[in-house]
Amino acid sequence: MGLQHDALIVGAGGAGLWAALELAKAGVDAAVMTKLYPTRSHTGAAQGGVCAALGNQEEDHWEWHMFDTIKGGDYLVDQDAAEILAREAIETVIELEHMGLPFNRTPDGRIDQRRFGGHTRNYGEGPVRRACYAADRTGHMILQTLYQQCIKAGVNFYDEYHVVDLLADGGALGSGGRAAGVIAYRISDGEIHTIRSKAVLLATGGFGRMFRITSNAWSLTGDGAALAYRHGIPLEDMEFYQFHPTGLYGLGILLSEAARGEGGILLNGLGERFMERYAPTLMDLAPRDIVSRSMYLEIRDGRGVDGKDYLYLDVRHLGRAVIEEKLPDITDFARVYLGVEPLTEPVPIQPTAHYAMGGIPTDNLTRVTRDAAGTAVPGLYAAGECACVSVHGANRLGTNSLVDLLVFGRRAGRQMAADIRGMTLADVPRDAADPVVGEIERIRSASTGEKASRLRAELADVMMDNVGVYRDAPLLAAAKAKVAELKGRYASVSVADKGRTYNTDLLEARELGYLLDCAETTVAAALNRTESRGAHAREDYPDRNDADWLTHSLATRTEAGPALTYRPVTITTFQPKPRTY
Ligand SMILES: Cc1cc2nc3c(=O)[nH]c(=O)nc-3n(C[C@H](O)[C@H](O)[C@H](O)COP(=O)(O)OP(=O)(O)OC[C@H]3O[C@@H](n4cnc5c(N)ncnc54)[C@H](O)[C@@H]3O)c2cc1C
Repeated sequence: MGLQHDALIVGAGGAGLWAALELAKAGVDAAVMTKLYPTRSHTGAAQGGVCAALGNQEEDHWEWHMFDTIKGGDYLVDQDAAEILAREAIETVIELEHMGLPFNRTPDGRIDQRRFGGHTRNYGEGPVRRACYAADRTGHMILQTLYQQCIKAGVNFYDEYHVVDLLADGGALGSGGRAAGVIAYRISDGEIHTIRSKAVLLATGGFGRMFRITSNAWSLTGDGAALAYRHGIPLEDMEFYQFHPTGLYGLGILLSEAARGEGGILLNGLGERFMERYAPTLMDLAPRDIVSRSMYLEIRDGRGVDGKDYLYLDVRHLGRAVIEEKLPDITDFARVYLGVEPLTEPVPIQPTAHYAMGGIPTDNLTRVTRDAAGTAVPGLYAAGECACVSVHGANRLGTNSLVDLLVFGRRAGRQMAADIRGMTLADVPRDAADPVVGEIERIRSASTGEKASRLRAELADVMMDNVGVYRDAPLLAAAKAKVAELKGRYASVSVADKGRTYNTDLLEARELGYLLDCAETTVAAALNRTESRGAHAREDYPDRNDADWLTHSLATRTEAGPALTYRPVTITTFQPKPRTY
């Protein structure tokens, strides 16, 4: 008899851990599988904050948060989901506080709040203090707090198990089958494990590693999204990928928007505060898509620093006390990685690939859906960055991802606990793991093919250069051809390490396959969408076109490449309007 649990969670970031905690509290036998040690999940790298309309420093309302989220997402947000996000943000942040999370405090002891891009008072009048934070290590504190709570609640952990496939029962997951567990590769010794379960949650995070300059950890390769795609589940809104304005020049390491929330400003090579021209009301705190495009235009018009492809983030005027108390880590990054002293020098920055708005489609209860009608796949759930609910639409606001993890991670745990009552474990054939073992062994034993690292670098280059902040038909068509070529070459990829102990060479080759799937769907959806909306900016179609494109894309795998269909956006309260800041 193989391993089994009632509920399996793939991923130990904020979304996975909160789901696990809910399941354990409900008395369910739940286990978390993670390819990284849990506290190394990317949630731990999140810096600036988690938003909730607590109104601790000034008037605020969840309705304002909901509106900002929808406008920030350029009206592609499903408004019923945004309402859930904004309402439940408040109770989940307070719940975290009660779990012991050490937030920064106001003088009278309440959770301190700061400004962040696109968060406004009274439906767009000016910035509001909505982001709750723990210095510039908010994600670290969230991850540590949730991990401690999971240990206390007795959650089972399979650390350093790399999930390489999903188990289905009664047909493919995309055509009527139900989720029945996972197949995992134990990183320490290369052993394959088949683990059955009644419910599976995908909480595997993003896929920023398909770009050359990215804020994302090396491990963010879209595993969950790609596995769902291979099982016939469409990927939603993949053309919307966010570039964060302030990555360290040449490296992409993130300097949180909190720097601007605390009063930092962006300067061009002439020393001008150029955001005045592009977003007169919110200026440096406009949403990320708008700031990144403005930066690109400044650079293109020759106003980069010394005519080069970077600009400055300036925090000198904030003074030592604010920098040391509220922005200690990111200012250290500037010192350590660029040798720049933020107390006395402006910091060179450029946009960096940061966040996937798209991913595995789910309903508001986190159940994975497999078609435009929203048919749920029995037993399969997704939450966090790998999922698309959709609360971020065409562009996510800063601090809205951490709150997405909390709200929908919690919902996932509760939903799974409710659904598995009365369910039985599926019978899984003994040879269920054979196909994926064959794929892995083929890579391990190939002696002539190209190295995965080379293909990965070529993929990251073409995605960065052709599918970045600005796109057009020729760039995207060239990217499509290049990704197809890389997929062809990937079929004979080989690795130097043939061993079984901690063979990261082999696993990185496997991960490259996931990145190729994410890239293929991103390019196809971007090429098809002949408008500009949020993070998807087409130079050949510069305007938003609600008549034809107020619609979510769904990219389904076929032998001939991704096939695109569309599903309507849910609009409940706020009719689409022109988006100015
Ligand atoms: C530098 C940085 C700063 C950020 N700052 C903020 C911020 O201030 N506020 C905000 O709201 N958002 C921020 N974000 C975004 C936010 O942190 C992420 O979107 C979020 O943490 C993703 O959480 P997650 O739970 O979905 O996945 P992650 O935390 O990325 O965790 C993914 C998990 O999946 C596991 N996994 C993946 N593939 C497999 C596999 N094949 N087998 C087994 N396990 C697997 C990993 O081991 C890991 O445990 C930031 C992001 C970055 C990169």
